[in-house]
Amino acid sequence: MISTISTLQRRDLNHVWHPCSQMKDYEELPPIVIKSGKGIYLYDENGKQYIDAVSSWWVNLFGHSNKRISTALANQAFQLEHAIFANFTHEPAIFLAEKLAEITPDGLTKVFFADNGSSAIEVALKMSFQYHMQKNKPNKKRFLALTDAYHGETLGALSVGGVDLYHAVFQPLLLDTVRAQGPDCFRCPFNKKPDSCNTPCLSFVEEKLKVHHEELTAIIIEPLIQAAAGMKMYPPSYLKNLKELCLQYDVHLIADEVAVGFGRTGTMFACEQAGITPDFMCLSKGLTGGYLPLSVVLTTEKVYAAFYDNYETMKAFLHSHSYTGNPLACRVAYEVLQIFEEEHYIEQIEEKGAFMKELASSVFHHQSYVGEYRQTGMVGAIELVIDKETKEPFPSKDRVGYQIYQIALKKGLLLRPLGNVLYFMPPYVITKEEIRTMIDLTNEAIQQYFDNAFVKGGA
Ligand SMILES: *Cc1c(COP(=O)(O)O)cnc(C)c1O
Repeated sequence: MISTISTLQRRDLNHVWHPCSQMKDYEELPPIVIKSGKGIYLYDENGKQYIDAVSSWWVNLFGHSNKRISTALANQAFQLEHAIFANFTHEPAIFLAEKLAEITPDGLTKVFFADNGSSAIEVALKMSFQYHMQKNKPNKKRFLALTDAYHGETLGALSVGGVDLYHAVFQPLLLDTVRAQGPDCFRCPFNKKPDSCNTPCLSFVEEKLKVHHEELTAIIIEPLIQAAAGMKMYPPSYLKNLKELCLQYDVHLIADEVAVGFGRTGTMFACEQAGITPDFMCLSKGLTGGYLPLSVVLTTEKVYAAFYDNYETMKAFLHSHSYTGNPLACRVAYEVLQIFEEEHYIEQIEEKGAFMKELASSVFHHQSYVGEYRQTGMVGAIELVIDKETKEPFPSKDRVGYQIYQIALKKGLLLRPLGNVLYFMPPYVITKEEIRTMIDLTNEAIQQYFDNAFVKGGA
C-alpha cells in the first residue's frame, strides 16, 4: 500500500534521516512536506491543512509565523546575528536574563545559556556535581531519577531518563543513576485520588535517599507532568514534599521544566503550583515560542558563589557551546515573554484550558477504550486501554496510537501520540471553536480505528 509520493518526498528520502523514526515506516507514510504555517495550522505542499495539536513537539506557543516574533527576529538579524559570548555580551541576552530572573521562582537569579533541552540538562547535572566537589563533598557523584522520566537524548540526559524505549539500547554507556519509582496517578499503587493525596508514593524516593544520600548530588524531576512517558500527571503536593526531602538529605533538586515551562500547566512555571524554588531550573522548548533552539539553566546565588573565586583555584564552570547566548534566539525569547505579559496569556490559558477540559471530558470519558481523560493547564491526555476496569494497556506492538495518528492525519489533525496516549498540547492562540474541532476530529479518529479493528476481528 505504497502511497504515491511527490518529488520532494522522494528527494527527502534519498538523503534525510528523520528523528525518532523507524525510517522503514516512511515507505507507508512518507514525510509530509510542510510549506508554510500560520497560527495553529501547518500547510503541506498540496495545500492541505493540519491542526498542530502538539505545538510541533511542544515548542510553539503563539502560533506559526507569528507576526510579532517574526518581526523581532528579522530586525535582530539585520543588527547582530551572533557574537562570541565569553567576555562579550549583548542586549538580547541581558534583557532576557533579567526577565527570566524576575518571572521564575524567587531565588533563581543566575542564568546560564545553552542550546536545547538536553544540553540544559547536561549543564545542570555538571553544575550540581561540581558544586559539591567544591564544597568538599566528592562522594556526591550520582543522580537520582524517577521511573518514566524523560530528560533528553544526549548521554548524560539519557542517563537520568527512565523511558526504556529511548535508553535501553544505550544502557552500557550510561551513568550509574539511582532510580526510584515515580508517581503513577492513573494506576496508583495506593489507590489515591490526585486531589486528595498525601503522596504516599514519595516513600519510594525517600527509601532511596535514606540509603544513598551521601553519594547523591541531585534529584532530577519533570514538575507536574512526566511528558514523554505519556503525559503522566501528578499533584503539586508531590513536588512540595520532594523539595522538603531534598533539604533534609542535602541533595539538589533539578526541575526540568523544558516541556512544562511557559504556561503549559496553567501557571508560568509548574514549580509555582508547589510554591518551591528548585536549585536548578532547566527551560527550553517554549522559551523561543517554537522559533529557534535555545535553553537556559537558572540557579541560585548560593550555587553561583561556590564557583566564584580567583582564577588559580580553578573553580570556574568550564562549559560552553559555540552558539551560547545566540542574539537571534535571545531576542525572540524576550519577545515571547513580552507577548505573555502584554497579551495576558496566563488568563487565556486558564479560560481556554477550562473549556477544553469540560468538553474533552464529556466527549472521551464514556468511550469504551478510553481509560482516562486527564488535563493540567492546557495539556490534555487520552489514555487508551483494552479494558476500563483493569486498565490493561494495549500491547505496544499493536501501535494503536500510531494507527490513530495516521487516521487523524487524513482528517487534517496532527496528534503524534506517545504509545497508547493521545494528547493535546496546542499553541495558546487556538480558539474555542478550534479546540472543539480538534476534540471532534480526535474522537472521530479513535472511533474509526476501533470500528475497523472490530471488523478485522478485535483490537
Ligand atoms: C524535550 C525534553 C527535553 C530535551 O529537550 P531537547 O531540546 O529535545 O534536547 C528535556 N526534558 C524534557 C522534560 C523534555 O520534554
